[in-house]
Amino acid sequence: MSALATSVRCCIAGGGPAGMMLGLLLARAGVSVLVLEKHTDFLRDFRGDTLHPSTLEVMYELGLLDRFLTVPHQKVPRLNGQFGDLMVTVADFSTLPTRCRFVAFMPQWEFLNFLVEEGKRCASFQLRMSAEVTDLVEDTHTIVGLRADTPDGPLEVRADLVIGADGRHSVVRARAGLSVEEFGAPMDVLWFRLPRRAGDPVDPLGRFDAGRIFIMLNRGDYWQCGFVIAKGSRAELEAKGLPAFRENVAALTPFARTRVDELQDWKSIKLLTVQVDRLRRWYRAGLLCIGDAAHAMSPVGGVGINLAIQDAVAAANQLTVPLREGRVSLKDLRKVQVRREWPTKMTQQVQLMIQNRVIKQVLGKTEPLSPPLVFRIMACFPFLRRIPARIIGLGFRPEHVQTPVLR
Ligand SMILES: Cc1cc2nc3c(=O)[nH]c(=O)nc-3n(C[C@H](O)[C@H](O)[C@H](O)COP(=O)(O)OP(=O)(O)OC[C@H]3O[C@@H](n4cnc5c(N)ncnc54)[C@H](O)[C@@H]3O)c2cc1C
Repeated sequence: MSALATSVRCCIAGGGPAGMMLGLLLARAGVSVLVLEKHTDFLRDFRGDTLHPSTLEVMYELGLLDRFLTVPHQKVPRLNGQFGDLMVTVADFSTLPTRCRFVAFMPQWEFLNFLVEEGKRCASFQLRMSAEVTDLVEDTHTIVGLRADTPDGPLEVRADLVIGADGRHSVVRARAGLSVEEFGAPMDVLWFRLPRRAGDPVDPLGRFDAGRIFIMLNRGDYWQCGFVIAKGSRAELEAKGLPAFRENVAALTPFARTRVDELQDWKSIKLLTVQVDRLRRWYRAGLLCIGDAAHAMSPVGGVGINLAIQDAVAAANQLTVPLREGRVSLKDLRKVQVRREWPTKMTQQVQLMIQNRVIKQVLGKTEPLSPPLVFRIMACFPFLRRIPARIIGLGFRPEHVQTPVLR
């Protein structure tokens, strides 16, 4: 079958937070952009739910914040963790120098659908769902487009710039031959749902106990639960049997004890493999990777979405004019990496430190747990909670929207 063909200034592989935000920013600045997303919709559980103050600030700068905050969400001004029997506030956003001093918990599909609706208001925005990018088109060492499989057959897109925003298992970065530095992670996450009932808590819960870490996110009529396990230990857990796993969950959430029976088989418990990595070089002539495709983030701090958004803002700020004029150079692409590499490195270093010093220790413990020293100090000196709040909520180098609106 001959391929359908089209051409745009910028073609983005992947409609996650990075790809959708960049698509919107470029389209509203008059750059013709096509986003290709392999799934038919955004309705998937494994996506993170956290929108931090820096992302909400970007929404404000886009003039969208008030409307966005009418989408149902929970405002969480503090993140609490329970270590053994002791509740500790690990981050307090209420004093941050920003408009929204809270994390908005919202299912990611609501956020992405909102961005899509905004994108559709711009004449130069196109989104194609069910379009899976399979390969790049190259001409004398320059990427000049990409290929995708769609329900209508193969599609070939020619573009001045291809963006790899296709997440941690990026096809784009693999096809481009960009080399990856891996940092490892001591844990994976088991992801499942439990029913939510009247009288349950509203705020997200995080429990640290000997050998176990458990989080619960409020999604209205159900809890999205994450059970953190030592890397590669799912088979061992399965061998112990589902009743033992249910008892483990029930012990961590006494209020939901009667509901764990709803976990009827291992198929309803999905394994999310945690990986932390970073590209050495985020670009080639005609191509740039952003978001998890450039740097897969650990779930620690739930900052992956925000970094993806910050990358998109930085890329749009740097590339809108060159894209409009059809002259994107290697120097322009390098500037995006230079701008975003330092905050990414710093964030990953903090995540790796917490993975190795806290999570690994907790997962390896068998006797009752007391909070790690750093959290005990924070309990005594509450103003110290502002430090993690700043790192999590605003990040190391918050970006600001500088692109114009030319619909
Ligand atoms: C267990 C776990 C929990 C997490 N929890 C949180 C959290 O609570 N908060 C948070 O901020 N971060 C969290 N993260 C990290 C976060 O999910 C990512 O950092 C963030 O989603 C990155 O956004 P992205 O747009 O770069 O990539 P993604 O969100 O991965 O989006 C990539 C998109 O590309 C699409 N795609 C993939 N391949 C192709 C292809 N070949 N062709 C076309 N489309 C393609 C995918 O379907 C997807 O829509 C978590 C990570 C893990 C592992």
